[in-house]
Amino acid sequence: MALEDLYREVILDHYRNPRNKGHIDSPDATAHGVNPLCGDEVTIDLTFNGDTVTEVAVESQGCSISQSSASMMTEAIKGKTRSEIESLTNKFKSMMSIEEDTDLGLDPERPGSVLGDIEALQGVRQYPVRIKCANLGWTVLAEALSS
Ligand code: ZN
Repeated sequence: MALEDLYREVILDHYRNPRNKGHIDSPDATAHGVNPLCGDEVTIDLTFNGDTVTEVAVESQGCSISQSSASMMTEAIKGKTRSEIESLTNKFKSMMSIEEDTDLGLDPERPGSVLGDIEALQGVRQYPVRIKCANLGWTVLAEALSS
């Protein structure tokens, strides 16, 4: 399967079957954000045990990129500490800001892939207007973590 098709499959799978969808009754942190350019909306609820995210729930609406990105984000951060999440966020943001023709050596099927499914979003860099869609979940996450 061509890498581009694989990426599309991964994105559509998260869009159709969003992970950790819903709300947490009494979250330790919550944040809401919108991407007015596209009409995307994301709300994130988090619970912590000390420094570690124990539960995460996302309610989102909007395009496939924003929703699949938020879904992938929830899987990536569950069970992680704040500093691990910060490092993931930085890796995601640098992936999304690197020029399209730069070879990062990213491969979602590579064992030990740092970002896993999230790497499927690197194709979005070709469409600058959609980068905001991909970033929304992570931006709201950062807000929740600092609240
Ligand atoms: Zn969007």
